[in-house]
Amino acid sequence: MRVVISEHAGFCFGVRRAIELVTKAVESGGELSTLGPLIHNPQEVKRLESAGVKVTADITGARCKRIVMPSHGVAQEVYDLAKESCAEIIDATCPYVSKVHRTAKELAKAGFFVVVIGDPAHSEVKGILSAAGSGAIAVRSPEEAASFDWTDKAVGIVSQTTQTEERFQEIVDIIRKSAKEVRAVNTICIATRQRQEAVQDVAPEVDVMFVVGGRNSANTNRLREICESAGVPTYHIETASEIKNEWLEGKETAGITAGASTPDWLIEQVKDRLEKV
Ligand code: SF4
Repeated sequence: MRVVISEHAGFCFGVRRAIELVTKAVESGGELSTLGPLIHNPQEVKRLESAGVKVTADITGARCKRIVMPSHGVAQEVYDLAKESCAEIIDATCPYVSKVHRTAKELAKAGFFVVVIGDPAHSEVKGILSAAGSGAIAVRSPEEAASFDWTDKAVGIVSQTTQTEERFQEIVDIIRKSAKEVRAVNTICIATRQRQEAVQDVAPEVDVMFVVGGRNSANTNRLREICESAGVPTYHIETASEIKNEWLEGKETAGITAGASTPDWLIEQVKDRLEKV
């Protein structure tokens, strides 16, 4: 089978930086934990665990030596708690995520009702909401935006870094229709845009698409949505072992893309598996 790997598939700048910070910390020796998974890729998190990096789900009441903040950031109160409980904090929050925190904070300070376009259950969105202070809300979909009364509101909008441009624009347009004032700052990160644009070119050209990445990875799920909307059979997998032979029957060309937290070694394994068909 011919295999096409979409440009920019795999690790983004923020994830690479987080892995490098942790690798350096491991090399310096001593106890090391990450607050929740460092990145949204279970296989890479497992690899780090086998190198001695523990995952701490909750630091309430815990005393730890060194704790790493994950690439997608945490809520301010969680950061404060970590500062109280741990001797050293290694902040692997991606600079693009920190920038969204600052933007949300500034909008709130300027008197805007802050809206974060994204999934309120996602840890990155929780962090952005906390930076904006009480009163900020997350809006997940155009339908949700349309059901809200924006009349008389001055609305400041930011986005989860991994949203699609289309969804961002659609929601901003809906809010603009009735809000008194709208200040929308597109905070979708460049790495997300590059992956999404590249896969838009690849998906229509292949018989089947494989999107490799954590099921808990927001940007991987967006890539899957983009491939599906191109009308190509699409499979979201975490590892090559999930690929079923019947998915490949009658197919000549397969495309691969991967989320921003998917390591190269997982992409390579998928490529090898498909090339053997
Ligand atoms: S996807 Fe973007 S915001 Fe998220 S870690 Fe990567 S570079 Fe940073």
